[in-house]
Amino acid sequence: MSDQHRPQAPDPQDFLAVDSTLSAEEADIRDTVRAFADRELRPHVAEWFEAGTLPDPRGLARAFGGLGVLGMHLQGYGCAGAGAVSYGLACRELEAVDSGLRSFVSVQGSLAMFAIHRFGSEEQKAAWLPRMAAGEAIGCFGLTEPDSGSDPGSMRTRARRDGSDWVLDGTKMWITNGSVADVAVVWAATDEGVRGFLVPTDTPGFTANTIHRKLSLRASITSELVLEGVRLPGDALLPGSSGLGSPLSCLNEARFGIVWGAAGAARACYSAALDYAATREQFGGPIAGFQLTQRKLADMVLDVNQAGLTALQIGRLKEAGACHRNHISLGKFGNVAAAQRVARAARSLHGANGITLEYPVMRHMVNLETVATYEGTEEIHALSIGQAVTGIPAFR
Ligand SMILES: Cc1cc2nc3c(=O)[nH]c(=O)nc-3n(C[C@H](O)[C@H](O)[C@H](O)COP(=O)(O)OP(=O)(O)OC[C@H]3O[C@@H](n4cnc5c(N)ncnc54)[C@H](O)[C@@H]3O)c2cc1C
Repeated sequence: MSDQHRPQAPDPQDFLAVDSTLSAEEADIRDTVRAFADRELRPHVAEWFEAGTLPDPRGLARAFGGLGVLGMHLQGYGCAGAGAVSYGLACRELEAVDSGLRSFVSVQGSLAMFAIHRFGSEEQKAAWLPRMAAGEAIGCFGLTEPDSGSDPGSMRTRARRDGSDWVLDGTKMWITNGSVADVAVVWAATDEGVRGFLVPTDTPGFTANTIHRKLSLRASITSELVLEGVRLPGDALLPGSSGLGSPLSCLNEARFGIVWGAAGAARACYSAALDYAATREQFGGPIAGFQLTQRKLADMVLDVNQAGLTALQIGRLKEAGACHRNHISLGKFGNVAAAQRVARAARSLHGANGITLEYPVMRHMVNLETVATYEGTEEIHALSIGQAVTGIPAFR
């Protein structure tokens, strides 16, 4: 066999050459987001994580807007109209820096903007989407409540009609970007079932309280939203929303970003471990030379590549209009678990250094605890997959 026809040895950073199937445009988006992340985010993220906040969320929103990733998979209204795989690649590159930064983009684009795009009136879309795409306005998405998490059908937040107005009362919990948002997409029970409302955050009766002392997703702002007699005009209702299926369809969009993002976090941990193993010496040689280290690295390569392939396949199904919500459940369930395994192994491989913010591994490891919990816990996705394959619901 001539050298020309001999297969190339695998690239340790992309062992199965998953990215070789990307189109030129997709590869370009990947490179642009990666370069932005390396320049604007990676140098600061440990500091933000340690501080337990994002020091300049408005500046960050404008930077993400300039990059074109806010609502990038939506059509019109200043959004880029990119394909599902391109959007996934952006999520992957952002979460390779930090899950909190990918969450910022997911909540803005896939939860708040998607809800307005899918269920909003023309006036609502024109009023909010172009500003949100540019990062001039920040949105949040309020579904979870103190007593209603995995079972959002048990929500207590109520919206009642009063003449032509709506009046909202209730509490939302764990809401990403709640205290920095300009508009909250709030889901509330009405006499006609669950509906979505656009609540400008300066409306009297609306308060957002930042949640402190988090040990995970620290480079992200998480809030409680309190609604006390929040009076809204009739046109604050998202007219296309009807029933719990509406917020759940938004969550499905955001989970798609998690499928890719988790693959990014896994890759970042594996990459850090590979570098560390090559340079850290014990017993007279690099720890990469020990069989037990190589087993850890082999397991990581497998998880990283399988997660990458899963994300790509789900992205291609989505582009073909053939992606069912159970496909996304499988991707979220599998890829987050894979990323958790990789992060834990990478942390152990870093020894004592692995518990510091000098290295990214434990930051990713604790972030992934949130990623495994939000947008449907791992148990809820296991139940969805179980129902899909047996036909028997086991949620109750
Ligand atoms: C940092 C962060 C950011 C978030 N951002 C947002 C946001 O922007 N907007 C928003 O609306 N929400 C947000 N969430 C909330 C998140 O979606 C919820 O935490 C999640 O849905 C789980 O709800 P819960 O925490 O109430 O847990 P619970 O539902 O109380 O679950 C507790 C445990 O019970 C298990 N469990 C529940 N039901 C079953 C069952 N039928 N069978 C077996 N086990 C079960 C769960 O899997 C879990 O292990 C965020 C959460 C975090 C941590």
